[in-house]
Amino acid sequence: MRTVPVLFLDADDTIRKGYGTTGAFVNTPDAVDLFDDVAVGIYRWLYAGYAINWYDDIPEKGPSAVIAIVSNQAGVEKGHVDLDMAKQVSGETASQLYDVVKEEVAKHGQLDGFKIDVFHSFAPQDRHPVRKPASGLAAVIADRMLLAWDIAPDWDKCHMVGDREDDSGFATNVGIGFSWAHDFFKREKVTA
Ligand SMILES: [Mg+2]
Repeated sequence: MRTVPVLFLDADDTIRKGYGTTGAFVNTPDAVDLFDDVAVGIYRWLYAGYAINWYDDIPEKGPSAVIAIVSNQAGVEKGHVDLDMAKQVSGETASQLYDVVKEEVAKHGQLDGFKIDVFHSFAPQDRHPVRKPASGLAAVIADRMLLAWDIAPDWDKCHMVGDREDDSGFATNVGIGFSWAHDFFKREKVTA
């Protein structure tokens, strides 16, 4: 089975402005506002960070690397956002992320033929066993990759980026590397 690197990303205050950045929850698709530095940060990882050998290995089918948004969305159980809206917000975030990363990749001739795919999942129940810092969302994403493209994560080349202890705990539990969002995207640390 073909394996590809996966960049796991927390959503709020990691790739999109959330409560910690703006003081408001992201409750509707029009409230999705990605940080300006997200595309270039991900491009940097694709190009240099994890040794993807795209010159030798442009697959006929499926992506060369996967971006996976893994978010607990505790707001669903707390009543800040209903489930249907959380699904729409998650889908909108993934769609915007795909567009900006694709555009960034296209800007740089070095990645000709390189394709990404974006998957997203969340764990809206308080006691759900996949909720971060548990590792379960990584398994959910791996399952979706298998169903969609017959591919699996190359775990040695996977990485997680987040802004909270739950995110670093997730990386530890999956057994992959971790970066804080402010380090990975080279931005000022959110303190709210
Ligand atoms: Mg977060």
